[in-house]
Amino acid sequence: MIRITGLYKEYPNGVQALCDVNLEIGNGEFVVLLGPSGAGKSTLLRCINGLVRPTAGQVEVNGVQVGAENGSNLRKLRRQIGMIFQQFNLVKRLRVLDNVLCGRLAYTPLWSSCFRFFSRRDVELAKSCLERVGLIDKAYQRADQLSGGQQQRVGIARALVQQPAVLLADEPLASLDPRSSRTVMETLREINCQDHITVIVSLHDVDLAMEFARRVVGIREGSVIMDKPVSQVTRKDLEYVYDG
Ligand code: ADP
Ligand code: ADP
Repeated sequence: MIRITGLYKEYPNGVQALCDVNLEIGNGEFVVLLGPSGAGKSTLLRCINGLVRPTAGQVEVNGVQVGAENGSNLRKLRRQIGMIFQQFNLVKRLRVLDNVLCGRLAYTPLWSSCFRFFSRRDVELAKSCLERVGLIDKAYQRADQLSGGQQQRVGIARALVQQPAVLLADEPLASLDPRSSRTVMETLREINCQDHITVIVSLHDVDLAMEFARRVVGIREGSVIMDKPVSQVTRKDLEYVYDG
């Protein structure tokens, strides 16, 4: 469960990116964040994974408070939260399987990851994650030989190898064509339904949001201005989110 209370973020340049955000997201939910560019969606996702430190308020993930700095807390948290990115952020020259194995490093102390060899168990787990996203046959290809949609699915496998409770995705479709976008959303839906991983994803594409989300959160000017099950979202709600 993710509990966000009274969250504010003001960047050093004075931009108020988040203003009193309160949200509770239960285990296994599939939430899409919608809102115009600059609304604060990325900032909110980054506050959840601890990449951005809020000015005020709290984020708690399964009882662990984000930002309560201490090494082992942070690792516990990082392990629970998988991230995928707009630009995939794969290591281009590494093989697909090695990219997925990189996910195993996310919660290892740095000193040990420097010297660490992957165990047979790590490799088996990485392969099973590649199977989950339908790319086991690409395991030994270089990451940059894959299409954009395939690379994004490698990104999902790299997150899955952490065995996270939550998967955060910031505009994961932004550099994909419509067909790959759909495949990526289908992969997200599958891991949400089958592995019961909570998925929180920010999207530009309203149609895909309405098709795949179970809950839609609308954000504008740093505030949550809509929060509904997808079945109750009307065209008017969407206009309000985008045009005020
Ligand atoms: P969205 O993801 O909805 O496009 P962002 O969270 O990226 O919104 O941005 C919210 C606001 O905060 C925008 O006005 C943006 O310019 C500003 N912003 C984002 N990141 C930074 C930063 N690192 N420093 C200063 N301002 C930022
Ligand atoms: P997005 O729309 O995907 O959120 P942006 O293009 O707004 O991405 O931002 C790209 C990067 O620049 C992000 O790391 C964001 O934090 C940073 N950024 C955005 N706005 C500002 C700003 N006004 N000042 C400094 N950094 C910013």
